Amino acid sequence: MYDIFLICFFILVVGACIGSFLNVVALRAISKESVIFPNSKCPSCNTPIKWYDNIPIFSYFFTVKGKCRSCGCKISIQYPIVEALTSVLFLVVCISFGFTIKSLLILILLSMAIVLSVTDIKEQYTYTVHLWIFVITSIISSLYFHGIKNYMFVILGVLSGIIVMELLARGSFYLIKKKHIISENNDNENCNDKKNEEKNDEDEEDINTYIQKKKRVFGIGDTYIAAGMGALLGWKYIILAVMFAVILQAVCIIPSFLLSLYKGKDYKLCFSLIGFIILSIIYWVLFNIISLSTPVSITFVIILAIIAFYILTALQNKTNMAGFKTIPFGPPLLVSMFIIYFWGETIINFIRNHIWLIAG
Ligand SMILES: [Zn+2]
Repeated sequence: MYDIFLICFFILVVGACIGSFLNVVALRAISKESVIFPNSKCPSCNTPIKWYDNIPIFSYFFTVKGKCRSCGCKISIQYPIVEALTSVLFLVVCISFGFTIKSLLILILLSMAIVLSVTDIKEQYTYTVHLWIFVITSIISSLYFHGIKNYMFVILGVLSGIIVMELLARGSFYLIKKKHIISENNDNENCNDKKNEEKNDEDEEDINTYIQKKKRVFGIGDTYIAAGMGALLGWKYIILAVMFAVILQAVCIIPSFLLSLYKGKDYKLCFSLIGFIILSIIYWVLFNIISLSTPVSITFVIILAIIAFYILTALQNKTNMAGFKTIPFGPPLLVSMFIIYFWGETIINFIRNHIWLIAG
């Protein structure tokens, strides 16, 4: 028993150290510095950090207390969060799959997912090197899990990942372009395949400029991620994974969207959205627990459809989206990949049994 605790503790420590390294990988990609040199330093005053101030998780809370020792600047909470997250995920994977090659491959994928998420959240940008490591590891993992004989599984998976994501990125553009066209007068901005080039606070306009220039709502980085997802999940599960990512993102965006509607005094739309969400939940609960009669059920669906139609029309006519913050699509995609990889079948069964409301 004692041994098991010791091993778990060891894995947690190794995980935290790797998490610390992943922070460095992500942040030095952003600052365009080498991953290995120089040693860790404070991002604001460049003072080298002493080893005892650089112990993952521990130092942030106990020795430096969230502030740089020499300049007193706040140190981002992102550091301990990434370290703790990596540490826990390492333990979960090692407990689930032991010290195997499978564990190793999943851990590399998880690590790259964390790096990609950090840069995507911080800069709305994913770096080509990280994307390629992710895609290649995913292909190798899939070949290892399914056997090299099943290379068609991987090829079809990668292709369907690319197709699904490109359709979504470009298709959504044609859905929203009407009201979001911004005059193309900022010519001296060069995109160079960058996902989003904004580094300032005026996100809205820059994201819209990007959308307008590239005629797509998601960056090319998300297509790489989808290709990697496809390699691992195969063509059958990739659509489910992307749909799940859209839901995840919606769940994260809806509160900020509602708040921006409320602040913009668009109470009608705000409350009809809230009403739609609450009614859907009530309907789902009633349907599954009390089992509604068909006429009641149909009435419910008709009401929901009317509200949905109203919301969609109102959204289409909405020109001022100021105050509405979008979140990058990379992290939900990556989270969704792991969820679908491990629980895809359970989720499909759940959909069959509980969500397919009328078709039953
Ligand atoms: Zn400092």
